[in-house]
Amino acid sequence: MKVAVFGTGYVGLSTGVCLAEIGHEVVCIDVDERKIDLLKEGKSPIYEPRLEELLIKNSIEGRLAFTASHQQGLREAEIVIIAVGTPQSDDGQADLSFLEQAAKDLARHIVRDCIVVVKSTVPVGTNEYLKQLLLGQLKNNVEIKMVSNPEFLRQGSAIQDTMKADRIIIGSDDEGASEKIQEMYRPLNVPFLLTDVRSAEMIKYASNAFLATKISFINGISNLCEAAGADVEDVAKGMGYDKRIGSAFLNAGIGYGGSCFPKDVKALLHTSRELGVPFSLLEETIAINDHQQELLVRKAMKRLGGLKGKKIAMLGLSFKPNTDDMREAPSIKIAKSLTASGADVAAFDPVAASNARKVIGDAITYMDSAMEAAKGADALFIVTEWEEFRLLEIASLLEVMKQPIIFDGRNCLDEAALKACGTIEYYPVGRPAVIMKDKNI
Ligand code: NAD
Repeated sequence: MKVAVFGTGYVGLSTGVCLAEIGHEVVCIDVDERKIDLLKEGKSPIYEPRLEELLIKNSIEGRLAFTASHQQGLREAEIVIIAVGTPQSDDGQADLSFLEQAAKDLARHIVRDCIVVVKSTVPVGTNEYLKQLLLGQLKNNVEIKMVSNPEFLRQGSAIQDTMKADRIIIGSDDEGASEKIQEMYRPLNVPFLLTDVRSAEMIKYASNAFLATKISFINGISNLCEAAGADVEDVAKGMGYDKRIGSAFLNAGIGYGGSCFPKDVKALLHTSRELGVPFSLLEETIAINDHQQELLVRKAMKRLGGLKGKKIAMLGLSFKPNTDDMREAPSIKIAKSLTASGADVAAFDPVAASNARKVIGDAITYMDSAMEAAKGADALFIVTEWEEFRLLEIASLLEVMKQPIIFDGRNCLDEAALKACGTIEYYPVGRPAVIMKDKNI
């Protein structure tokens, strides 16, 4: 099938590459010419495992092309997938301006009948609104059918999640359009759920809000565990064995971030207010998360007796491992809070430093390794659970620090290895601290 994809971000590019990999002819369109130039050279503008490899393979094999021209990209398209951003507006609601512009671009340049697949995360009713917008601006006499097809991939495993999704939601009022989109995805061999359009739109927000609430719930429990002397890891394990609960998303830590959970919970809350249906649970999910993101700073403040003039090493800046995405990363709030309290911050992230610099600026120092960041530090924060931090040679790290104090915001260090280090103060989240003193610290 001939597919055009609007947007070469995490969703659009991963979708385009995977559809090409299963045999479709895909043209990815983006208004960002810098991205298109990179993509034409076989370089991915974002970091995602396997993405660049598949991008190069499918481009060479002639199934994948890139353009900044809507006219060129839409010339043969029978299916148009919209994967542009829907960021958060100041009042929490989804900002649909990129989507509206995409609809206008599509209306101006589409020259044949097509199915428009909305993959961007959009509030209930948006597909209907977009269809009206499109129909009102069409330049050619073509038939447009709409399908809502929300995306559930996770950054850091976008290709794997696209190729092996748990389910594909297809929301449409048109049986023919629904069947055609099923046909497009059939080689992936993933279960379909066919719904009406509004339910498909709601499924995405309900899923993300539920997962975010699960995270805030376990973080609430972790705070209770710390006060009560219980271990949240054991508590979560015990809860997770219950099939009604499940073990996923029960990792206590410094809260959720990223381009989806924060904005999607707020957008759903906005929808609930608009519809006059109170949903205060979502307010609490957000409040717990905001509080949790400052946890390490509060703990360090207490332990070090203030932060003025202290050197803090921050390991991890991206909102989660295996991505260079800094959108709503907890590291932003932590870095700002530390520097506002007078601390000197030396940070290391395996891939996100240059994106981090754009958001956090030069108020902190960006180092080339964990070891460099740790040199002379009064305390070390683990902010993102990159695999290489789990495997760190802790003893050598502690050697170069001024004081061997670690605040682990992701509970990712191995306690047995820590205990073998001799002198250490280790503060995980929701678990008893490990304090081993061979000498005064
Ligand atoms: P992104 O910001 O990384 O990429 C969006 C791209 O669209 C940008 O490259 C932008 O230049 C391009 N664009 C904007 N207007 C355009 C237009 N008129 N024509 C062509 N291209 C245009 O966004 P993303 O993270 O890929 O997210 C896209 C959507 O998918 C959002 O609604 C998001 O909520 C949803 N989503 C994201 C994820 C995720 O993990 N990132 C997961 C599931 C769903």
